[in-house]
Amino acid sequence: MTDTDLEARAHRYRVMQHAAALHRALAAMPPEAARLTTGGDRDTVGQLASRMLWSSTADLNQQGRFAESKQVVARAAEIAAEEEGTAAPAVRVVVGLFDRPFAGQLDSVPVLEAIFETKATEELFAEYDGSQRPYSRIVGGGIEFRVFESDKRSAALDFTVPDLPALRARLDANGGHAIGNRRGGVATMPSGGVVMQARQAGWAPPVESTRTGNVITVRFEDGIVAELPCPAALIGNPVARQIDEWDRWYTAERPRPPWRLLDAGEHEAELRELLAAMPEADRYLSIEPGWYALAAQCWRQLKKIDPECVVGEVKEKWAELRISACDQDRQVVARFGGPIGWARKQSLRTCEWCAGSIPTDAARPGKPSRLCGPCREFAEAWERARWTGNDDRR
Ligand SMILES: [Zn+2]
Repeated sequence: MTDTDLEARAHRYRVMQHAAALHRALAAMPPEAARLTTGGDRDTVGQLASRMLWSSTADLNQQGRFAESKQVVARAAEIAAEEEGTAAPAVRVVVGLFDRPFAGQLDSVPVLEAIFETKATEELFAEYDGSQRPYSRIVGGGIEFRVFESDKRSAALDFTVPDLPALRARLDANGGHAIGNRRGGVATMPSGGVVMQARQAGWAPPVESTRTGNVITVRFEDGIVAELPCPAALIGNPVARQIDEWDRWYTAERPRPPWRLLDAGEHEAELRELLAAMPEADRYLSIEPGWYALAAQCWRQLKKIDPECVVGEVKEKWAELRISACDQDRQVVARFGGPIGWARKQSLRTCEWCAGSIPTDAARPGKPSRLCGPCREFAEAWERARWTGNDDRR
């Protein structure tokens, strides 16, 4: 392992540790705090953590290069110590936006300046008791922040912006990044130990969707109804599936209602069998219906090899269909690799929404990532329709 490689791996290891901590923090939020986050946020963070782990130490361990893996961990610990030493003093501040107070760290000021391409001004705020205290005032992107010093502790900043896609574009252009639910009206920006969340002003979630022929109708919470033409080959209604998933996720009901198999068509019976072969707590398919035929066919083969086969997961990962399975004793079965590999390979050229054939290089970032031209057009129309004030929604 070269020095450059060691350094790269150690930094990835640090990011893995941060991502794992953020993932735990997300998972530990009480329902009210979690209202602005989604399962997708956790997935994104979880995927980042696993990718960083794999590319820092896990691949070395798998190759038996344990000494080198130890070196990476040791170097990561040194980097962590350096971070501690140079970290800004943890002065707590309250960021006031409109009438709502929010808490964050002092380094929120430069981050906000970068995001909104503006300079903070120092001003004085009159307290109720007549005293005055200084604060940083930042105005940009159509919103105003007041950043106060405070000893209050909180980990999240929450603000509303008039144009969330524009904010994301500004962030991307300035070397920043936003994670989380690109389509749910929320962008999450980790910064200096503070998680900042920007919400689209006037965001109205979709509440109901039906499909009639090749038109998908969506009703939003504010009463606006969108009518979106869709390709004839599109399987079922992706909007209705998404709403169903959001409803399941945001419900106060505990335990959450079970995942529902929708738009499975002729594959329904086989997929129900497959679901029954999964552990009860994880009985869901994290794939879109365009890949259901592949999953069903893979299941048919697995069952032939071992009727007692246990299916671990069926999911989309890195734009591929991933299926895991083992025998009753949780042992790996080499012959399962055939049908599982076949399904993975087929998924590379199968549209996730209509099962149509697509070139293997058609994958794009986002979910779903493998779509044919017409399905992608529909996905984009649906994304546009979700932004308040956009004419496409009417
Ligand atoms: Zn398609």
